[in-house]
Amino acid sequence: MDLLNTLVEKGLRRELPTREEALAVLATSDDDVLDVVAAAGKVRRQWFGRRVKLNYLVNLKSGLCPEDCSYCSQRLGSKAEILKYTWLKPEEASEAAAAGVAGGAKRVCLVASGRGPTDRDVDRVSRTIEAIKEQNEGVEVCACLGLLSDGQAERLRDAGADAYNHNLNTSEGTYGDITTTHTYADRVDTVNKAHAAGLSACSGLIAGMGESDEDLVDVVFALRELDPDSVPVNFLIPFEGTPLAKEWHLTPQRCLRILAMTRFVCPDVEVRLAGGREVHLRSMQPLALHLVNSIFLGDYLTSEGQAGKTDLEMIADAGFEVEGSDTTTLPEHRAAGGGCGSVCGDGDSGGCASEAAEARTTAAPAGEASAARTDLVAVRRRGAGTDLAPNA
Ligand code: SF4
Repeated sequence: MDLLNTLVEKGLRRELPTREEALAVLATSDDDVLDVVAAAGKVRRQWFGRRVKLNYLVNLKSGLCPEDCSYCSQRLGSKAEILKYTWLKPEEASEAAAAGVAGGAKRVCLVASGRGPTDRDVDRVSRTIEAIKEQNEGVEVCACLGLLSDGQAERLRDAGADAYNHNLNTSEGTYGDITTTHTYADRVDTVNKAHAAGLSACSGLIAGMGESDEDLVDVVFALRELDPDSVPVNFLIPFEGTPLAKEWHLTPQRCLRILAMTRFVCPDVEVRLAGGREVHLRSMQPLALHLVNSIFLGDYLTSEGQAGKTDLEMIADAGFEVEGSDTTTLPEHRAAGGGCGSVCGDGDSGGCASEAAEARTTAAPAGEASAARTDLVAVRRRGAGTDLAPNA
């Protein structure tokens, strides 16, 4: 297929595809899905080999959020029967993080529900970061605390944070349909604050919320423009008790096309398969490893993932290897600080819960009907905030 050959050549040169090319990837048929995966897999291997980076989520503060993000089980008015608890103590968070590190995670993602942190919250999270760094040599820490005020990113950096996550989630044009309590521009501002503080920026999306192909291309191109180092791709988990509970649009093949499009647009960026992989890719998860170079190990913020041991077996069986802490994730040109924007001649690429969204569109595209697999949505009942051992 000429399209795929062109996209592979561009990906190997770190050149931005056109919007039409990105849309054409999403419009390919299920008959072509293996060709699409194989093509995007060449780009993945060029920049990341067969390495898979494992990330581990610690939900520092769960539920009771005043914001109204429609996809989120922790939102204002959510009837989802999730765990609800206030801030974990630094030692509790560190213990949870250690379980993830022992399971092979290279990065710990500290997430808290809420619009954004107070300065007191930043103090608290700083102590948590310091405890985790002290007890887990070499671990990367990413904070995900919502919208940042001036100076907070710098304080997190000074406490030892390596990265900050804040997802764009969906296109600017549809953002107001998903959330009314803050804006798309607020989100962009926080990603820019993280960048400006010298933190590695992590920002991604949630697919399956009813968005059109154009919306998906808009958000992925907007991400490339923002130039984060990592892009988590979440697939909506339609939680009972949230406004999007009936939004079951995704098929495994659709998920693979979305991941492939993201890889072509962001060839040398850490593309992370995030929340919803077990629910929507199901037995096709191993194919996604040919597209992404990063996943979450174990459980998500408010839902349970497959067993950490099963994640590790899947990676090995598919012929990939877990990335060690002695390996730099990003290709040399990016790790050295030259982001995509600086090298591609013709242009570029919540808080909280969005990173592992339990997380809308126009009508689902023709041929994309999907059965509601509510049987695969399990509320988290172990790990942080419980007396039971975490899944790692
Ligand atoms: S995504 Fe974050 S800000 Fe939005 S409702 Fe969930 S916890 Fe609150």
